[in-house]
Amino acid sequence: MRSVALPEIVSAAASLLYPPTCVVCSANVARTEYLCADCQRRAPRIVPPFCSKCSEPFPGAIDGAFTCANCANRTLGFDAAVSAYRSRGVVRFIVLQFKYNRQLQLRHPIAEWLEEAMNDPRLRPRYFDLVVPVPLHPARLRERGFNQAELLAKILAQKINVPLNSALERIRYTTTQTAFDRVERMENLRGAFRLRKKIGVRGLHVLLVDDILTTGSTLSECARVLREAGAQSVYAVTAARA
Ligand SMILES: [Zn+2]
Ligand SMILES: [Zn+2]
Repeated sequence: MRSVALPEIVSAAASLLYPPTCVVCSANVARTEYLCADCQRRAPRIVPPFCSKCSEPFPGAIDGAFTCANCANRTLGFDAAVSAYRSRGVVRFIVLQFKYNRQLQLRHPIAEWLEEAMNDPRLRPRYFDLVVPVPLHPARLRERGFNQAELLAKILAQKINVPLNSALERIRYTTTQTAFDRVERMENLRGAFRLRKKIGVRGLHVLLVDDILTTGSTLSECARVLREAGAQSVYAVTAARA
């Protein structure tokens, strides 16, 4: 993709001329780092207690594994959706810059957050056959120029040594979901995704990847399609959650 390669070359050339700086505050950082220690410290890490199904954190003390009221009241397609961070502060800033301001180099720190989520006990011991990114509708892809989930899934797949497979496609362009409640979102997404032709997932353990979990409706619908096609398990990982 030419549109992806050019900024990469420019930033590679720039890094020869200028010392590397924090992507948020411009403080100097080591060459292998994207965020300075202060900004990384301000990234809101999700810590227990949190819902074992959707990772929504709760204040106070709750002993043992539990499922939140939202998850108890709806059928979710995935076994669990795991995020290491909340989509707030520097985390939200970086994801928005990446997604809407074409700061493609930011996929690297975001992919590191995905890798951190893979350390969660719900994911760490599991074997996965495939890493599957949440697809964008072709019209949205043309408009944005890249699928953020796919760029992130590609890096993660390499790091965890599991094949990347863009097994799903988005066949329906849905209007913005923000005005809908959870039930309406799920209904709005029905039929929005399907398995690509000639791809089989029967009996496979799938890891679905997206940048942010907002309500979980998109990941749930993708997971439902994979399960209907015979996937044995579908876990979801996102860099952050709302
Ligand atoms: Zn910083
Ligand atoms: Zn939950």
